[in-house]
Amino acid sequence: MVFDGTSSGAVNGNGVASLPAASTTLYLTPIVHSLSLSKLEMVPHALVAVSAGRVAWVEHLKDRQDPAEAAEKHGIDYEAADKVVVSEGFMCPGFVDTHTHAPQYPNNGLGGSLQLLDWLVELTFPLEQEYDDAAYAAKVYKEVVRRNLAVGTTTACYYGTLHSTTTLLADACAAAGQRALVGRCSMDTGSGTYVEASAEESMATTDLFLQHFDTLPSEAQQLVKPVLTPRFALSCTSQLMADLGKLANERDLAVQTHICENPTEIARVKEVFPAISTYAGVYEAHGLLRKGTILAHGVHLSEAERAVIRRSGAGISHCPGSNTNLNSGAARVLAMLEAGIPVGLGSDCSGGCEMGILPQLRNASTVSRVLAFEGQTARSLSTAELFFLATRGGAELCRWDDVGHFEPGAQFDALWVRPRSPGMWVEGGEAVEMVFEKWLCSGDDRDIGAVWVNGRLVSGASPVEA
Ligand SMILES: [Zn+2]
Repeated sequence: MVFDGTSSGAVNGNGVASLPAASTTLYLTPIVHSLSLSKLEMVPHALVAVSAGRVAWVEHLKDRQDPAEAAEKHGIDYEAADKVVVSEGFMCPGFVDTHTHAPQYPNNGLGGSLQLLDWLVELTFPLEQEYDDAAYAAKVYKEVVRRNLAVGTTTACYYGTLHSTTTLLADACAAAGQRALVGRCSMDTGSGTYVEASAEESMATTDLFLQHFDTLPSEAQQLVKPVLTPRFALSCTSQLMADLGKLANERDLAVQTHICENPTEIARVKEVFPAISTYAGVYEAHGLLRKGTILAHGVHLSEAERAVIRRSGAGISHCPGSNTNLNSGAARVLAMLEAGIPVGLGSDCSGGCEMGILPQLRNASTVSRVLAFEGQTARSLSTAELFFLATRGGAELCRWDDVGHFEPGAQFDALWVRPRSPGMWVEGGEAVEMVFEKWLCSGDDRDIGAVWVNGRLVSGASPVEA
């Protein structure tokens, strides 16, 4: 299938390819994307047709094959069509950040000498309390979304704060065109003065928060969705978790929370919930483990907990930068994947220090290599696996199965990558495989020339358009 010059697919079931040529944009470009966890597809000469924000079809061109001939097969006049021609670099799916905290970005880079529970009290809760101020919240959230798009995060799963100003984060995503799950923190115990008064009050505020998403412009409602967010087991009473679990099941809502991040945290959870033997069991008992539940970290999960998570359909956001910065440990991603658990990558700012997912891809590689060096795992993660986690795997974790790849029918969330950063030593004429590998290992966000979400240019400048 790869490099054989044939079409990689047909018109999708929605009939988008039958739309008039004027509504189709053709991208003549090398592409790299994941077909599966273990299979990367790299096409040096591809013609990708995008209609109504989705990939309509992809043609793999043979050397010197006329793209007009390929377009004609689909009834499109190449010369007359809107075109984006990539003559330098390649295009790939945008990154999916499956776990990050928008209000914490002003603290990025701090906290490396602390561990989770002290970090929350000393640095994080004091900052989050500032978001009672709507003007401050609006200013930070707009900038967080802008910067995340610029570093290639086309989809983000965001925590907000406990305040109703978290709606401003949803507004910022909608305005900038970022695909996002946005969650207001539910937290009615265990965090001093930064806490909601009761489970009842928390659920009432959540109800209002959910209603806000119905007020977004209709096209934004497809991109920006709510996610129920019990902060973590130590921040929620049993009543609140049970109410959120019931709501998630009744309305099939996404859920995000943290699990098994830090040994002290895990010991505390056992003290608070003595009748339940494991951390995963606490969430399971409250109806919070289900498909669409994103569990951040899972650094210290037992095999039995992995089995519980696997059965539930929930998945893990692996946040290796945060796990290292907050001295939490090294998550066994290979064991999660072997257990059949969906896994994505998360920056977990500001537990993690670095924006975006490219640094996390490298951190995940390093952590998995160290585990293999130490004999704790049989092998490290491959490049194909790492890129899958960064894109398609993360999207599947967020229940966006049509995101993170370029197969027909996929939503066109894409990056144009071309060498600009000092670490990228590309002299021209190198195969797409080499430029791609160099970028993953040596490049950075300066190499991202343009970013599209759902076919819309949301950051940077498109290459030559005709
Ligand atoms: Zn987190």
